[in-house]
Amino acid sequence: MYATGLKCVNCGALYPLQPEFFVCPKCGLEKVRGVSVFRGTTEVQYDYEALKKSVSKELFAKRPFNLLRYRELLDLGEENIITLSEGGTSLIKCKNLAKKIGLNNLWLKNETSNPTHSFKDRESVLVVNKALEFGKKYVSCVSSGNAAASLAAYAARASLGCFVLMPATTPKGKIAQCTLYGAVTLLMDGIYEEIFELYIEAIKELDILESSGGYNRFKVEGGKTIAYEICEQLGWRAPAWVIDNVGAGTHLYGMWKGFKELRNLDLVENVPKMVAIGPKAGSPIVTGFKEKTDLPLTRSEESIADGLVGRWSYDMPLALKALRESTGYAEHVSDLEILKAMEWLAQLEGVFAEPSGVACVSGVSKMVETGMVDKGEEIVCIITGSGLKEPELARRISKEPTLISASAEEIRSNLQKHLTRLGKE
Ligand SMILES: [Zn+2]
Repeated sequence: MYATGLKCVNCGALYPLQPEFFVCPKCGLEKVRGVSVFRGTTEVQYDYEALKKSVSKELFAKRPFNLLRYRELLDLGEENIITLSEGGTSLIKCKNLAKKIGLNNLWLKNETSNPTHSFKDRESVLVVNKALEFGKKYVSCVSSGNAAASLAAYAARASLGCFVLMPATTPKGKIAQCTLYGAVTLLMDGIYEEIFELYIEAIKELDILESSGGYNRFKVEGGKTIAYEICEQLGWRAPAWVIDNVGAGTHLYGMWKGFKELRNLDLVENVPKMVAIGPKAGSPIVTGFKEKTDLPLTRSEESIADGLVGRWSYDMPLALKALRESTGYAEHVSDLEILKAMEWLAQLEGVFAEPSGVACVSGVSKMVETGMVDKGEEIVCIITGSGLKEPELARRISKEPTLISASAEEIRSNLQKHLTRLGKE
C-alpha cells in the first residue's frame, strides 16, 4: 500500500488516512451568502518514489482492462476486493459528431457502460472497499442520483447497510436503482446544498461512513482512473484537451490528479488542458473560473442537467486549481444546447446519454465556434451517465413512434413511406 496520509489543501496540515480527517479539523466553516463554506478538504498523499519502482506500463498491461488494473495508485490491496468490474470503458473516435461540430480529432470516453451506468462506480468501488478496511458497517451519501445509485449497488455487493438522501425531484430511474439495490432511500424537498448541510448535522453522532462527493476523499481517487485509461488507450499519451461535465468538481479534479501522477511517474510526457462545462442555471465552478472567485453563487435555478446544478461544493477550490494549473477553460451551456447534444450523440454516434452527461459536447461545440480550440487538436469528452436513467425526457425530445394496425399491408405501406422519405434525404 502506497498512500501515506491526508493533507489539507487549505492549511497544509498532515493527517493519518482515517475518515475523521476527510475534512481538516483546523479549518472551520464560514457562512457565505447563506451557504456553509468549507475550504479545508484534504487530499490522499502517496509515496511516489516507491510507486515509481513498483508500477510500469508492462505491469498494467498484464491485468484485465478495468479499474483494478491500477490498484497501486488507488491504495487498494489484491485480496478480497469488492468489485463489479467497473472502469475499462471504451474510448470512441467520433467521425460523425466531429464533422457536425467542425473537428477532426474528437473522442468520447463512454462512462455510460459502467455497472450502474455512470462514472460514479469508479468512486463507489473505492468508498466501499475503504469502508470495509475502516471496519464500517454502514455507508451513506447525499446525491443528485447517480452517486446514490452507484453506492447502493456496491454496498449491496459488500453486504454493507446503505442510506441515501436525494432531492425529491431526482429522476425516477435513479431512485428506482437505489430502492431495488436495497438502500434506505430518503427524498427531501430542497436544493442539494441545503440538504447536504442538514445531512452533515444529522449524521454527526452516527457510525456511518459519509460518502458524499466533496467529502469522502477516496472519491477523488476514483476519478483518477479515467485519466489513466485515456492515456493508455491513446498509447500512453494525454490528449490536448479533456472536456468534463462539472457539478461538484470532484471528478474534474480527480482526473487532473491522475494525469499529473502519470507525468510524475514518467508514464506520460504531457498533460491535457482541463475544461469544465456547467449549466447556465448554476455552476459555481464555471462562474468561479470566469470571475476569479471561489465564493458560492447567490442563487441557482432548475436545469435538465440536475446532476450538475449547485451553488457551492467542498471540492470547488480543487476544481478551480485543476483549471488554473492546466491552463484550461470553463463555459456555461443552456438546457437547449444540452438537449441538442443528447440528440447529436444518440443520432450520430449511437450513444444514449443523460443531460448531465453531455454538457461537455455542448461546451466543445461552443469552443469551436469561438475559436478556443483548433480543428485538428485531440479532444476527449467525458460522457458521464446513461440516458436510460431518464427515459421520459428522451421520449419528450425525440419523434413519437407510430402506432399501426396489425396487417402486413399496413407495415408495408409505412415502410414504403419512410423508404421514399429516406431516399430523398
Ligand atoms: Zn486545514
